[in-house]
Amino acid sequence: MQNTIVPAAGASGAPSTLFIDGDWRAAGSGETFASIDPATGEHVGDVSAADAADVTAAVRSARAAFDERRWTRLPYPRRAEIMFDIADRIDAAAEELAVAEVRENGMPLAGALRTIQNGAQAFRYYGGWVGKIRGETGEVAPGEAYHAFTVKEPVGVAALIVPWNGPFMLACHKLAPALAAGCAIVLKPAEDTSLNTAALVRIAVEAGVPRGVVNMVTGLGTVTGQALADHPDVDKISFTGSTATGRTLVRAAAGNFKRLSLELGGKSPVIVMDDADLELAVPGVLTGIMSNSGQACIAGSRLYAQRGIYDRLVDAVSEAASKLVVGNGMAEGTQMGPVISRRQLDRVLGYIDSGVAEGARVTTGGSRVGDTGFFVEPTVLADVPAGAKVVREEIFGPVLSAMPFDDLDWAIAQANDSPYGLGGSVYTRSLATAHTVARAVRAGTFWINTGRPQDFTMPFGGYKESGWGREGGLQGVEAYLETKSVIARLY
Ligand code: ADP
Repeated sequence: MQNTIVPAAGASGAPSTLFIDGDWRAAGSGETFASIDPATGEHVGDVSAADAADVTAAVRSARAAFDERRWTRLPYPRRAEIMFDIADRIDAAAEELAVAEVRENGMPLAGALRTIQNGAQAFRYYGGWVGKIRGETGEVAPGEAYHAFTVKEPVGVAALIVPWNGPFMLACHKLAPALAAGCAIVLKPAEDTSLNTAALVRIAVEAGVPRGVVNMVTGLGTVTGQALADHPDVDKISFTGSTATGRTLVRAAAGNFKRLSLELGGKSPVIVMDDADLELAVPGVLTGIMSNSGQACIAGSRLYAQRGIYDRLVDAVSEAASKLVVGNGMAEGTQMGPVISRRQLDRVLGYIDSGVAEGARVTTGGSRVGDTGFFVEPTVLADVPAGAKVVREEIFGPVLSAMPFDDLDWAIAQANDSPYGLGGSVYTRSLATAHTVARAVRAGTFWINTGRPQDFTMPFGGYKESGWGREGGLQGVEAYLETKSVIARLY
């Protein structure tokens, strides 16, 4: 089923998934690529492949909209109203959007619906910031002679580069704060999941976002994304994706010193103490790694369990994992869908093989499911050697590596012995242990006795190679702002 909100093919017959200066267009070259349903391998639709010239047209459109203040000159109540209207329109279309999300991404329908609704909430939350962004007054010596204050101004043209693991929601998490800040935008969805993002753009336009304020380019990361990242008229890149691509963007940003927000990879540790409540720990550990087929930067992929609880925990998590219903996200009762692509399937299976080769014991899963689509069994690897590749590298699949420990200091040292620092969690009944571990683990988000709720009110981002900056809360809006100091001589 084609998402009817997504624009139909243009007159030329080529798909029109580029949105530039208020028009849906095909790529100038006419080139396209296919979007594939990861549950069936079937063709979902065609996507326009933008080249550098298309990207330049989109950036020009955003630049003109920004320079003419087409968005920021609207009174703030109107801007807020438009953002709330986007939220309402997303909610009204949520079921249709969720189906389209399943077709492109594979996630189970109920979960997809929650991500769509979460996207709507992002517009309500960030719409609430409009009109509340303000500077400060300062003091400049000699105090009586000057009036000094700061103004927060939008950073300019923001390129929003989105991954495929929660495509609609993650596009909302960037578009909403960028609009709240007053930027003009070029949105670039991931190649595997472009079609539903077109629906988001259409909704934004229908709600009243002025022409040129939101543009979208679709295409390959290495071509379209790179052209956007290199473009000298882009002021800011907000990127969510792999650490490797993040590194490329740091280089691309150097040309004109683009501001960069990078939400990159993770290898989040989960520490479970002997005194943990298994009723919390088992589902927490399970959903922490298996949600979205493990395709979450924040996935709790390294389990360090204290010796006294290790066997019971590994058995219980393995049993629960083995009972997860794996299947097409559209099928009733599915709890875990496929991974995104053939490439990702091969990558995840390769990691499982490497874990076994390095001495891990498979307690459940370990293989591909069936030979249609890209399904991997929920997999638990126990007794994994600390230095194994599956412990060190981000897998981005439903694979948990479990290790026992005797000494908490050792577990904390292991937790921190990673290039990543996105998340972490601890399960314990001891308040003192919980907070000691929370302070000791170097990560941007830490959970106590829970798997992974996230909320816009809370800053989200990584330490170390997990990225730069924060999304969420006021920091999430500030990522799209510059600060200007104004100093006025009074006499
Ligand atoms: P993955 O490897 O899991 O696909 P990526 O980090 O490569 O994750 O992709 C995340 C987003 O970054 C996608 O929208 C992709 O198209 C884009 N992207 C990939 N490579 C580049 C690049 N060199 N420059 C800009 N964007 C890129």
